[in-house]
Amino acid sequence: MTEIRKCTICGKPYEQKEYGACGHTFKVWVAQCECEEIERQRQEEIKKEQERIEKARQKAEIIKEQLNSPLISPYYQQKTFDKLSDCNKNVKSCQKYAQDFKRKTSTGIFMIGNVGTGKTTLQACICNELSNRGYICLLTHFSALLDIFIDSCSFNTQISTNQLFKTLTCFDYVVLDDIGREKYTDKRLEFAFRIIDTLMDNKIVTSVTCNPEIIAKLSKIPEYKAIIDRLKNMCGYNMRFEGESYRGKYTKIAI
Ligand SMILES: [Zn+2]
Repeated sequence: MTEIRKCTICGKPYEQKEYGACGHTFKVWVAQCECEEIERQRQEEIKKEQERIEKARQKAEIIKEQLNSPLISPYYQQKTFDKLSDCNKNVKSCQKYAQDFKRKTSTGIFMIGNVGTGKTTLQACICNELSNRGYICLLTHFSALLDIFIDSCSFNTQISTNQLFKTLTCFDYVVLDDIGREKYTDKRLEFAFRIIDTLMDNKIVTSVTCNPEIIAKLSKIPEYKAIIDRLKNMCGYNMRFEGESYRGKYTKIAI
């Protein structure tokens, strides 16, 4: 007795149909529901998505080599939303921001707060979540990024300045951490403007973290103010971090 084939998902029996070709008759089992076909398509989409994420990971590795620097420092690579024990308003907003992130329509977050209030940690959580979804993210001190560009001008450089600017356009999300602490020479100021222009022109979603006193101080100096104004324009969200440093004081808070 032939065993009746059934849908592996809903259990509905297949029907056996007969087809004739070249003088022969063939019996074929035909599914009477869509379940298995839908599941096959779903698996195919999952596979495609995994391939896309793997490609992004490989691209991120190449960029890391070019910049000769991790895209997120090892300390911050460990930060994830589920590890945060303090679920304040800003944590929730950042979590939602990461969930809703779209490369083409999202805009950056301008975070202002004292040292140790959790700004960089939250940005790291956003970057790590986006990286897991196949977005290429950079979390860097603006000063460190300027150093990389300055190094590219030296004689024995591994990567040209032009290539570095091109590399910058490969990112989906960039965080310029702790801006305002960098020291400017004419060359560094020129790079600062070019970096920001490149990010702006290529619509790279860019977020910023900064200290309120430093921003207030720098806003009085025209060149710095111009940089800060541009960055503010690139960020559609403002987020304030009130209070003193969490560090040391509330050691239980894992941010
Ligand atoms: Zn079925």
